[in-house]
Amino acid sequence: MIVASGGTGTPKLLLGLKEQLEPDELSVVVNTAEDMWISGNLVTPDLDTVLYTLAGIVDEQRWWGIAGDSFLTHEFLHSLGRPELLALGDRDRAVQIFRSDLMRQGESLSDATQHLAQALGVKQRVVPMTDDPVSTMISTPSGEMHFQDYWVGLKGNLPVHSLRLKGIDKARPSPGFLHLLKEEKVVLLGPSNPVTSIGPILALPGVRERLSGKKIVAMSPLVGGQPVSGPAADFMRACGVPASDDGVLSLYGKVDLFIVDKKSRYRGECARLDTLMRSKEDSIRLARDLLELISCS
Ligand code: GDP
Repeated sequence: MIVASGGTGTPKLLLGLKEQLEPDELSVVVNTAEDMWISGNLVTPDLDTVLYTLAGIVDEQRWWGIAGDSFLTHEFLHSLGRPELLALGDRDRAVQIFRSDLMRQGESLSDATQHLAQALGVKQRVVPMTDDPVSTMISTPSGEMHFQDYWVGLKGNLPVHSLRLKGIDKARPSPGFLHLLKEEKVVLLGPSNPVTSIGPILALPGVRERLSGKKIVAMSPLVGGQPVSGPAADFMRACGVPASDDGVLSLYGKVDLFIVDKKSRYRGECARLDTLMRSKEDSIRLARDLLELISCS
């Protein structure tokens, strides 16, 4: 199975899926449209959260960074008058140096990710959606800006006019993603931001065509009619769809199995599960229920 992932909701589900599936049954393709070079290194927030989750070292409170990390370099840079946009932990930064050094030596993001996964002891296949630069740009009354400048820099405190994926037309799916699209029959669009996490993966040239004939399963990231965290609702409205499960589905198009939360007001064809994950036990329970549904459908 291929799981399409962003950086919070789907990694929570991966925590459960990795307990239920053999490593060779679980492959993850990860959004890279929120990546940014910071202090000389490429920060890939969603890829890192997925790798840390599968390696068992993710910070499960914040769903970014490494549990128990220190922030000495970040804080000292701040005191030197060089504040960083993202709070990068020291061990997290070591991972970014590992990746960026390999890329400076000529490796692609895919190759560097594979080396990193090996070094972290991750057995599942984790691939970036593309090796080409793609950036989610947010248009606001103060102008257009990178997703991280909007969401972290300005804490999302500006109206959103529209969103654009800079670089998407020229980007190709990564070799690993193309390989998975040939080999795997089931694709799960995980419970992630449908606009800025799953959207870029589906928007890569050629991906929609290659999905035809596969079993597409989508789990909504909305619980009780709203996102558990993050800017999904504003972004959905800025894309012209309601911030509801109907809106999620209209962004995805036709899927074979649509899973919404038990309390959802969605009235179309779907399956209902308790999709809120507050603990590892929740993640394992939801992963088990989901796999049962997929095997029966
Ligand atoms: P991003 O890269 O930070 O946007 O991360 P994601 O897109 O992966 O995660 C944000 C989305 O995950 C939000 O839309 C949340 O509603 C969703 N999410 C977070 N936790 C949960 C959960 O426990 N259950 C479900 N169904 N969705 C969740």
